[in-house]
Amino acid sequence: MAWKWYDSLISRIEEAAPGVRRFWLEVQGDEPLVFKAGQFVTMDLPIHEKRLKRWRSYSIANAPSQTHVLEFVIVRLEGGAASAYLFEQAQVGDVIRFKGPDGNFVLPDDLTGRHLVFVCTGTGVAPFRSMIQDIRERQLPYGSLHLIYGTRYTEGILYRDEFERLNQEMPNFRYSVALSREAHIDAGAFSFPVVKGYVHQIYMEAYPTPQPNLDFYLCGWSNMIDDAVANLLVKLGYSKQQIRYELYG
Ligand SMILES: Cc1cc2nc3c(=O)[nH]c(=O)nc-3n(C[C@H](O)[C@H](O)[C@H](O)COP(=O)(O)OP(=O)(O)OC[C@H]3O[C@@H](n4cnc5c(N)ncnc54)[C@H](O)[C@@H]3O)c2cc1C
Repeated sequence: MAWKWYDSLISRIEEAAPGVRRFWLEVQGDEPLVFKAGQFVTMDLPIHEKRLKRWRSYSIANAPSQTHVLEFVIVRLEGGAASAYLFEQAQVGDVIRFKGPDGNFVLPDDLTGRHLVFVCTGTGVAPFRSMIQDIRERQLPYGSLHLIYGTRYTEGILYRDEFERLNQEMPNFRYSVALSREAHIDAGAFSFPVVKGYVHQIYMEAYPTPQPNLDFYLCGWSNMIDDAVANLLVKLGYSKQQIRYELYG
């Protein structure tokens, strides 16, 4: 699909967690933004004179059924240029140009009988939220879905209410969380399993033996992705074809 530039207006900004915001962009014009769950757009942000230094990519966090208002969930990185703009200057009504959609981090056409394991940290949950909403809305047949989410503290769990609800309502959906810096985890405070540590221990324990109909989707920053790819390929023996990832940086 050819890339196209769109103008959009920031229509809403909300704090999602400490240092994380949800942004809604209203696409201008009548043409819908047709995208696949898991894809991203590249925004041209007012952060540099040189065009290429202004571009930052962000995964679309909503389902493809919403084609005029797009949601993004963005973390503030210390010293980051886009972070400074998005957290200190950006306001409702600001214009943001973006191009896209782009990316191959999408679901296969046929999910029948497939067991999907989504592993992410922080805002790496964005493409999975889109995929899960898409699967649910279109009632796509799937074997099972397991969302494994990692962050430092309880308050950093993004879309917690939403995934907690899905955990109760969606058949064969599992939601597991790893908190790396929480001093004490009170299991009674959660309706889903929470471990102290990293996402790695969750999938290593849950899927220790390679199975042909299991696919791992990984999203986040290189520290997590590098370790996960190494664990899955080398320690557990999964094949490359069973692992797909979206690297944020
Ligand atoms: C396909 C794709 C999709 C993406 N989707 C999202 C998304 O949905 N949400 C989202 O929040 N981000 C997403 N990103 C990352 C995003 O594009 C930017 O890289 C990010 O917002 C940082 O931009 P910045 O201008 O603030 O930082 P820059 O100025 O580009 O980065 C430099 C600064 O960031 C800091 N930094 C760099 N890497 C790290 C790291 N791993 N941990 C901590 N600090 C670091 C450095 O200290 C440095 O000061 C995505 C990236 C890609 C490639």
